[in-house]
Amino acid sequence: MTEANKSNFAGALDVVSNGLNAHPASEGLLFLKAYFGYKVADNLSNELGSRPAAIRSLQNGVLMIDGTATTRMLERFEEIGKVLGDADSAIDELLQVNPNSQEVMAFKGYIDMKLQKLASESRSMRTTFNNSPKIAGGFCAGCKKNISFASQAFVFRKVSATQMEVWHLPCYEQKTNPPN
Ligand SMILES: [Zn+2]
Repeated sequence: MTEANKSNFAGALDVVSNGLNAHPASEGLLFLKAYFGYKVADNLSNELGSRPAAIRSLQNGVLMIDGTATTRMLERFEEIGKVLGDADSAIDELLQVNPNSQEVMAFKGYIDMKLQKLASESRSMRTTFNNSPKIAGGFCAGCKKNISFASQAFVFRKVSATQMEVWHLPCYEQKTNPPN
């Protein structure tokens, strides 16, 4: 366990998962699988936190969305959800063998909470992202050209109570900070 903690958790998870193929009902291995799965998911989440924000509020109610980063982040959310889902299944199996373990129940509660939080974050990000072209149309208010929402950075700007404009990020920056 200490040894496995020192090496990376993804590697440890592989070792434990292979062990489970040979000994499917091993409680120790099931617990380790859940634990390492959780750590892998946790590391993936921490990595996400250190990246530039995919969706960010600028001043004056302007919203900046980086299409590429958002797409990548949503993919990463899915990956984390899958790893956590596997950990959750391992916990469920453990609970079948050992239904009264408080520790296992508490761990399951914790993983379920993480899964719910991830699902709701991912849903709200997807909604913001998918609604983008519907709200403001598909053309840049600056250069009047098409915006590729999945791969370009763009900003939304409220122009009245009911109207939104969308800009390519570079077009918007040029407008707000014109070169001398
Ligand atoms: Zn433009």
